[in-house]
Amino acid sequence: MSSLRADAIREKPLQICWEDAFDRYWDTDELQCVEVICCDNCGHMNVVEFGEAECSKCGHEALTAEGPMMNYFYPLPKYIGTAHKLAEEIGAVCLCAVDHPELGMGLALTGGGMDLSWEICAGYVAAGYLPPTHFSNLPVFAQELDEENKLVLFAMKESLEVEANWCKNRLGNFRDTQKAIYGRHQKAVERKRLKAG
Ligand SMILES: [Zn+2]
Repeated sequence: MSSLRADAIREKPLQICWEDAFDRYWDTDELQCVEVICCDNCGHMNVVEFGEAECSKCGHEALTAEGPMMNYFYPLPKYIGTAHKLAEEIGAVCLCAVDHPELGMGLALTGGGMDLSWEICAGYVAAGYLPPTHFSNLPVFAQELDEENKLVLFAMKESLEVEANWCKNRLGNFRDTQKAIYGRHQKAVERKRLKAG
């Protein structure tokens, strides 16, 4: 068993129009999108909020946090911490950390074009979560078996096992319900028969 939390196993990507969201929360601090960008001048990893910034180490002024690109939000239920903390945890990847006033904390892609399920799952794992089983059909093409991907495979297997266990418990509860309903029906039939007799 890993120490990853199980709160996101059943999560699904939520569709969101980022343009609308930015229009709506423009000039407020309520919507935060934070990502880690490597300075191409000195290599320093900067935690940058949506927009332009300069490198905190060398002052190089070419850091652009593009913010969310694809219109999906990947929820991190009950995440404890800020978007800055989350961005540091996931590192310089194709994801940004989002703190949305209604949807809560989550991840969003800062790039797109192909199936980025591995990257999204790696983001969940880096944030301390078992990845959602929604992504279990991971694309096999051109995928290297590096340490990060091994971790994703390990975590996804655990997500599926946990979900299977939940399902097994629900099946048990359902059988109890089924038994109770049939039992009540049987008793009602017997009562009627006695009355009629
Ligand atoms: Zn720099």
